This record gives sequence, C-alpha cells and structure tokens, in this order.
Amino acid sequence: MKFDVVVVGGGLGGLVSAYILSKNGLGVLVLEKNRQLGGCLQTFTRGGVKFDTGIHYIGSLEPGQLMHQFFTYLNLLDDVPLSRLDSNAYDIVMLNGKTYSLASGYDGFVQSLAGGFPGQAADLRRYVQKIQQIANASPLYNLSKLGGTTFLQSEALSYSADELVASVTANGTLQSVLLDNAPLYAGVRGITPAYTHAIIANSYMQSAFRVVNGSDVIAQSLRSSIQRHGGMVRTNAQVNEFVCAADGRVEAVLLSSGERIEGQRFISNIHPYETLVRLKNSHIRNAYRERIAQLPSTISCMVLYLRFKPNAVPYLNSNLFCYFDNIDPLQPYSPEHFGHSFMFMHQCSEINQRYALGASLIAYMDYAEVQQWAGTAVGHRGAGYAEFMEQRAQVLLQRLEEVIPGITAQIEGYDISSPLTYQNYTATRRGAMYGVLRDKRSPLQSFISPRTKIPNLFFTGQNIQAHGVLGVIVGAIHTCSEIIGLSSIIERIGR
Ligand SMILES: Cc1cc2nc3c(=O)[nH]c(=O)nc-3n(C[C@H](O)[C@H](O)[C@H](O)COP(=O)(O)OP(=O)(O)OC[C@H]3O[C@@H](n4cnc5c(N)ncnc54)[C@H](O)[C@@H]3O)c2cc1C
Repeated sequence: MKFDVVVVGGGLGGLVSAYILSKNGLGVLVLEKNRQLGGCLQTFTRGGVKFDTGIHYIGSLEPGQLMHQFFTYLNLLDDVPLSRLDSNAYDIVMLNGKTYSLASGYDGFVQSLAGGFPGQAADLRRYVQKIQQIANASPLYNLSKLGGTTFLQSEALSYSADELVASVTANGTLQSVLLDNAPLYAGVRGITPAYTHAIIANSYMQSAFRVVNGSDVIAQSLRSSIQRHGGMVRTNAQVNEFVCAADGRVEAVLLSSGERIEGQRFISNIHPYETLVRLKNSHIRNAYRERIAQLPSTISCMVLYLRFKPNAVPYLNSNLFCYFDNIDPLQPYSPEHFGHSFMFMHQCSEINQRYALGASLIAYMDYAEVQQWAGTAVGHRGAGYAEFMEQRAQVLLQRLEEVIPGITAQIEGYDISSPLTYQNYTATRRGAMYGVLRDKRSPLQSFISPRTKIPNLFFTGQNIQAHGVLGVIVGAIHTCSEIIGLSSIIERIGR
C-alpha cells in the first residue's frame, strides 16, 4: 500500500497537517514513536491527578478571534472543553515583591496596568497598538496572505522584543512587566524578535483559556477526525530512516521494527536536524545540512508537578509569572539563575472548580545541567540524578512558599521532569522548550521553509516558523498549502 502522504511524528503539527490533508481527500498515515499520541499534548496521571506537559493555556479562543476560527475548522470545539481564565487577571506578574494583574481585552489590559503605572497610561496604549499592528500585519492573522516567504517580511523580525518595549516606555519596571511572558517563548534580550513577543502577547491579551482535564483531548479529537476522513494514525511507530530513490526523492520510511512504508509525499513533524540525520542517500547538499545542524535551540526547563491535599488549595484561575532578585525576564539563562523566575499554573480538572488538585511549576533549566545522565531511561537515571533534581526542587518550593505562604504544607506529593524527560517524550533536541531559537540578527536563518531541497519532503511543527498552538497550527496550514494549495484550506477556515 502506498499512502498519498506519510506524516512522521504525531505532535500537534503532524496531526493538524494530517487533518487538513485527509479532509481534502488525501490518503494519510501518521507515524508516532510514542505509545501516547500528541507530543507536547501528552498528559500523565499521578495519584489521581491528570497533568498537562506542554499546553497550559491557549489564546484568542473567543468567537470571532483567530484561534476560534482554527478550532472550528479543526472540529475541536465540540470535543475540547475549555475554561476561561480570569478576565481581570489571566496572568499575574510577581516582580520583586510587587504584583501586577493583566486583564483580557485591549482596553482591559491597559486599564489593569495603568493602576500600577498611573503615569504610563499613554505608554500602555502605545504598546497595545504596536502589538496589534504587528499581529495584524502578520500573515498569521491574514490567512489570505500566507504562503511563500511572506512570513519573513515582517519588519518586527529584525528588532528585538526588548527594543519593542523600550520604544513604547522608558519605565524600566513597566518594561519588565510587559516582558513578563518571556518564558512563553524563552525570550532572550537582544535576540528574540519583537514579532515573536507580539504574536503571543496579542493572542493571550485577546482572551485566554485552559483546556479542562488535559490537553491530550486535542490529540484524541484530531485522531478521530483523521480516521473519519479515511486516514490512519499509528503509535509505537518510530521512524528510523527516510529512504531515497535514485532520483533523490523520498520513496519510503523504515520503522524501528524494520517495516517499510511507502508514500508519494512525506511530512516530517520532527526537528529538521533529526529528519536530515535519518535521510539516507539523498541529494541534499552539505551546506544545507550544516545550516540545519547549527540552528540554536531555545532553553529547556524543569517542571514540578505538584499534587495538593484534598480541598486545601483554592483553584487559582490565573497563571503566575514570578521573578526574584531583580532578574531581567529576558536574561539568557545560566545555572546561577536557576529559580530566579518561574511560571506556576493550576491544573484545570473541571469547569467552575473550587479547589485545585494539582499545579505545574515550570523553571528554566539547561540541558547541560543534566547531560551526564543522558542515555538513561525515565525512572532509572540513578541516585545522583535523583539527588540533583530533588535539590533543585527544594529551591523552587522555597521560592513558591515566598510568593504563596503556606502552600508547601498543602502539597501531598510531586513529580519532577527535566530536559531529559522532554527529550525522551518528544525527541526534541536538548529538551528545548520551543524548538529552534528565533534570532532577530538572522531571521532568515532561524525561520525554516516547510519546503525542503527534496520535492516530496516537507517540514512542519514548531521548528519551522513559530511554536505554541497558534504557531504550530499556522505552520501546518503553510506546510499543507505546499501540497494542496492555500485557497482550498483558507476558504474553509472561519466558515
Ligand atoms: C513546558 C512547556 C509548556 C508549554 N506551554 C504551552 C502553552 O501553554 N500554550 C501553547 O500554545 N504552547 C505551549 N508550549 C509549546 C507547545 O506545546 C509546542 O510548541 C507544540 O505542542 C509543539 O508541537 P509540534 O508538533 O511541533 O512538536 P511535538 O509536540 O514535539 O511533536 C513531535 C512528535 O514527533 C514524535 N517523534 C519524534 N521523533 C520521531 C520519530 N523518529 N518517529 C516517529 N515520531 C517521532 C514525538 O514523539 C512527538 O510526538 C509549551 C511547551 C512546553 C515544553
């Protein structure tokens, strides 16, 4: 059997690509290496609490907003229960002992911060306008313009997030508050493009939602739709090799079991470097391979998955972004900064929840800090690793207690993940949180075309253009447009 399209990797990018192509009549097969589908959409359950691992909240999901259009098109709205984050404080920033709430909606956002920065209301309005301008001028928000290299034309790719914020306000504290969401894109001062910051800030500012009881429901819904369209999804199917014919085109993939699967076209949802490593006998030039091999990655993270005692911790319908010791939100991470910032999100288990069952505390961590245990299996990394991670966990718990006094007494137990865990479960390079690091100094180098040097091989996923639910869905549309054209996709979105 020869499939029209074989998709390697069943993360959000692979699943959305397979959804689009199968909806348009192509015979599609998704191959996912893990037992559980979804990549960063995977969840796990400990002590009766279900935890998200890579999707904690999603923006612009109100009717009329962009993500709502995408979710409608992807048939996700009926299957994916959503819970709105507090409109008056979807994010709470705790910066060196002071607290700032960010409210939803452009006006709400300005008003919520103008209270803490009374002299800066005009700066805040300028910021919100700039964010909207960049987002609205972006092909992400003008689907009809998407295609080719138009995503590279935004001027905001060539100046940094901090330059953007400095251009609207001279107030240093306000600059830090506006950059509070840097962990959502692993932002780095002088490097992360203003574009990356603006697209994400704009989406969450419009509206912000949690998925109720686990983001894995997104993967399950997409799988069901793909199957309904006649496509196939296989798990425990690790691709070890892309096999090329004499003309250089990919003709098949080989699974770790030795099984050979043939296709007309192939989409890779895994890191382009990992794809090229598996591409045998191709005509790809070394210069391209080297460019891809040298793409820098975003920083990785450690996550504490906390389980609370029953009815002990009131559900917090806001995300906390905590900064200590005057750390700059865009400070490039190094181990001496461990615990100087973190994100904290309660797990949403049901709508109108009174008490939280669990929460995730996410802090930057460098792969190099745990590299000595690379190659060990999850749960069997040895005493040295366990001791190191436990010591790091205690640092974070102490910080958490500083911002929410008494909370640690309500913790029943916790699990810890490290960059190695992400590497194991998603095969991301060095456990990078968001794949390739975007760099305003070389935007053309750090944004990758979905088209490859091989005419029937395409890339998709967070590494090509942008990460997150928004970036990956737009990337998948772009990838599929290379196969079936843009109009057949765009015309059906929003209807
Ligand atoms: C801690 C954390 C928190 C996050 N929070 C949010 C959030 O709140 N909101 C948001 O929008 N985004 C968030 N993100 C980002 C978002 O999760 C990702 O950008 C997105 O899910 C990536 O999707 P993807 O398809 O590109 O890659 P992945 O999810 O990594 O999928 C790649 C898939 O390919 C599979 N694979 C790899 N190698 C092979 C192989 N050889 N053969 C077969 N299959 C293979 C992997 O197992 C995986 O399933 C977060 C990320 C992290 C790490």
